[in-house]
Amino acid sequence: MELDQNKIPQATAKRLPLYYRFINNLHSQGKQRVSSKELSEAVKVDSATIRRDFSYFGALGKKGYGYNVNYLVTFFRKTLDQDETTKVALIGVGNLGTAFLHYNFTKNNNTKIEMAFDANAEKIGDDIGGVPVYHIDEVEERLNEDVSVAILTVPAQAAQAIADRMIEAGVIGILNFTPARINVPGHVRVHHIDLAVELQALVYFLKHYPMDEEEV
Ligand code: ATP
Repeated sequence: MELDQNKIPQATAKRLPLYYRFINNLHSQGKQRVSSKELSEAVKVDSATIRRDFSYFGALGKKGYGYNVNYLVTFFRKTLDQDETTKVALIGVGNLGTAFLHYNFTKNNNTKIEMAFDANAEKIGDDIGGVPVYHIDEVEERLNEDVSVAILTVPAQAAQAIADRMIEAGVIGILNFTPARINVPGHVRVHHIDLAVELQALVYFLKHYPMDEEEV
């Protein structure tokens, strides 16, 4: 199970949590093996891609047997650091931020929103979904080294300043839900999720690239 993480292409690495979630479910149901066809249908990735992805981490699979679920679960846990909980801070307890605080992330993977921040005094001191909400001015004081990831659900115009502040406080990963593009130093990774753009893209694709019925 030796693995050089640098050799896994980014596109493959991005699919790992998807695979992990499904494989973990099979594991908790006591299943011993899974075929690439079964996996493909569940995660909606074609089986040739799955075979290629899995070959990067030494899971070659056997014809007529498929993949060993135990092997895969152990591999994914190790690779995705699922044995360790990643602590996350959320900034901006508006509609979207509040929904995330109520959402139980730990159900499927080991990330936990430890604390939330907002600039609105009315929101401070609340405990939403078990997560304490602090004033944004307490960021430097509250964020300890353990918190390495931040979710940004502030208005777009506040995104860059908040990101700078989080990075200064030690954050190295940002999940940016604002429409703003943010500039960060080289050691910081930003994943950008703009729900409005995603929805528009889906509608565009439905219109211009209707699904081939056979693929459904
Ligand atoms: P959402 O965009 O999540 O649907 P909303 O429409 O309720 O939320 P927004 O105006 O987008 O509200 O603001 C989201 C949250 O970010 C609010 O709770 C607001 O108080 C907070 N916020 C705004 N500016 C800052 C800032 N500079 N620092 C921290 N929090 C901020």
